[in-house]
Amino acid sequence: MRETQTVLHISPHPDDELIGAPAALFALRDAGFGIVNLACGLGRSGQHARRAAELREACRRAGFELELPPEPIALSSSDDLVRAQHGLVDLIGKTATRLRPALIVSPQPHDRHHAHELVARAVRDVIVDQRAGSCSRWWMWGLWGDLPLPTITVAFDERRLDEIAGALEAHEQELGRNDYRRLVRGRAEMNATRGPELVFGFGSAGDPGPYVELLTEAVLTNGRWLLGTPRRLDPTSALSEPPGGVEIGDWLYRETVTQCYGSPGALREGARFENEAQRDRIWDHRLHEDAQFNQRLNFFLIAEAMLVVAAAQVLSSDTPSPWLGAGIAAVGLGLTGVWAGVNRRQVKIMRHIQDRAMKSLPEFRKHYETRPKGHSSTRWLRDGIPVIIAVVWVIILVVAITDLV
Ligand SMILES: [Zn+2]
Repeated sequence: MRETQTVLHISPHPDDELIGAPAALFALRDAGFGIVNLACGLGRSGQHARRAAELREACRRAGFELELPPEPIALSSSDDLVRAQHGLVDLIGKTATRLRPALIVSPQPHDRHHAHELVARAVRDVIVDQRAGSCSRWWMWGLWGDLPLPTITVAFDERRLDEIAGALEAHEQELGRNDYRRLVRGRAEMNATRGPELVFGFGSAGDPGPYVELLTEAVLTNGRWLLGTPRRLDPTSALSEPPGGVEIGDWLYRETVTQCYGSPGALREGARFENEAQRDRIWDHRLHEDAQFNQRLNFFLIAEAMLVVAAAQVLSSDTPSPWLGAGIAAVGLGLTGVWAGVNRRQVKIMRHIQDRAMKSLPEFRKHYETRPKGHSSTRWLRDGIPVIIAVVWVIILVVAITDLV
């Protein structure tokens, strides 16, 4: 008998498991997949117990297994989101390593809600870093943000919708605040018309059934994120379909509207979106400043070396002139001071550009964050070499002064 394959759903909040892509998860469950819902957060602190209880009941009704971490990750916009990101990568990585899922389902990276986007970026990074138990297939749903590149349609009927609503109703107080059953129904009804055109091309016929759910599939293949082949969900072959040839890594790493302008209700003037040309200029500027640093290093090294040779000749000749030697040493020491100052300023400029490059060039940031840690060689060049040369000058100065006395 075939071992049960696991589909791992990553929920930023309790109720997302039944709002994001419930029709797809139910269809996979009916086809024999084990559906595990990993609850990353439990909403606001103070509500954790209530929401965990509602979530347990919802998963029981849906036939999902529930993974509830001992400590939910704090995902509110006022929380430390860098810490949250690390926590998410760690939690999702450990869970996926243990469960070895055949598929990971989560929100899309441009889902407008900051917690949904954080979760999506964490899923992306876990799969890229090969910490997902060899899973490379990722399905994304859109709730607050539209899915711009859907590839899978999941058609369902009234009975399925009732089943979804029945499980979703376990999140009683959330539905009291806002009735998400209407969202699930309304979105699915809209997508019965719109979905086929978005997935198979404009001009395609609408789905004959009442409801359709949409997902974007991405498969990491030889380090490239390839968009899945457009298709209707067939749960029996869903996870063996090879991807198409369209690479979407750029979209997965692109800065989002939320990162740029903030969350609804707390919008701020956005950092400008940087276009390709601007990014190129930032990169060029970075290379230019690096070259500048190295050129100055060479200039000062040559100047210092010439002075050292001159001082040594003056002091060791048959008729040594300690005054001249001391003078050269003093000039050398002064020059070394200037050098150290120039270096510090140059490194500040380089760091500033480095920060800008990290913000606008995700690939670079990834490389920078994952490189082996250790003492920075720039710092050694900035402070170490001038200090060594200053020591040489002090020694020469002492020799010259001893000669004088
Ligand atoms: Zn949510």
